[in-house]
Amino acid sequence: MVYRAEYIWIDGTEPTAEIRSKTKVLADGDDPGIWGFDGSSTNQATGDNSDVVLQPVFQCPDPIRGGNNILVLCETSLTLDLSPHPTNTRAAAREALKKYGDQEPWFGLEQEYTMLDPVTGWPAGFPAGGFPAPQGPYYCGVGAVKIRGREIVELHTGWCIDAGLAISGTNAEVMPGQWEFQIGPVDTVTVGDHLWIARYLLYRAGEEHGLEISIAAKPMKGDWNGAGMHTNFSTNAMRESYEAVEKAAQSMGAPGKPEEHLLGYGAGIEDRLTGAHETQRYDQFSYGVSDRGASVRIPWQVAQDQKGYIEDRRPNANADPYVVATLMTNTCCEALA
Ligand code: ADP
Ligand code: MN
Ligand code: MN
Ligand code: MN
Repeated sequence: MVYRAEYIWIDGTEPTAEIRSKTKVLADGDDPGIWGFDGSSTNQATGDNSDVVLQPVFQCPDPIRGGNNILVLCETSLTLDLSPHPTNTRAAAREALKKYGDQEPWFGLEQEYTMLDPVTGWPAGFPAGGFPAPQGPYYCGVGAVKIRGREIVELHTGWCIDAGLAISGTNAEVMPGQWEFQIGPVDTVTVGDHLWIARYLLYRAGEEHGLEISIAAKPMKGDWNGAGMHTNFSTNAMRESYEAVEKAAQSMGAPGKPEEHLLGYGAGIEDRLTGAHETQRYDQFSYGVSDRGASVRIPWQVAQDQKGYIEDRRPNANADPYVVATLMTNTCCEALA
């Protein structure tokens, strides 16, 4: 008998990397080993030296195929010496966790996304060529007038649970056709592993129902919310003391830090961080309790409890979770060390 391993990796598409996957059929009892692919077709190599190595690093049950089939998330490496490929952002997340693992960094990511008609590119729930009623009733809305695509959300959530991912919730968002799911809290590396697999499953759920999933940061220009990936973060010290919570928030505003972080927070960040639509401007840094117009929010409950976590509201929906988690781990844990 045989089973199937779906090898999943992150490509070199610019400015936003995309997911690729291919299937390997294995004899029962055989482990999925190292594999490779044509990097000249994924912006990861040139045609004359095209092989890129796939190194399995995380695997889970394949909830789509079921049975003993699995999903295999891979890091990409160079054939030369098996060192990380330049587009392999997980390697730096591993380093950050190795350096600061004693502080037990935890992440909870809020992945927002938009469902699009694959032919017109228009969001699901927008009338053909036109616009729906203004934002207001759609966030956490219920009912056929307000909601499109819930069948995809339900399918996706079930798949994530069956795969054993740390999915912690979902909600309809402020713009029609826009939704969110949350992953966490888990460590600096695991949050990226689970989020990339969850994105893969989401795109596959979209295929089943004929809708394209977009993680574009500002899919509709004008008076429509963008799509972010709010990043909730804590360390063992922050989970014990409010002083550490404030210190972490302040560390992200230290000279040079906002600029450094924004470079890793996704393509088109200036288009989304306008200062409107529950964002702070990209060229200003602020933090505050309950403030959804700040760069970094300290949730009300955290101020109440005098311990907990912070929310960096700046990362775009199209950011790479490994890059975001690496930046926050290094900046905050260095300040808290
Ligand atoms: P919001 O109110 O901003 O919409 P959500 O409920 O969507 O918040 O997301 C909150 C996220 O924070 C969840 O993914 C949750 O797992 C995560 N979270 C909760 N506690 C912690 C913590 N101590 N450290 C890091 N993340 C946390
Ligand atoms: Mn949320
Ligand atoms: Mn949200
Ligand atoms: Mn949030």
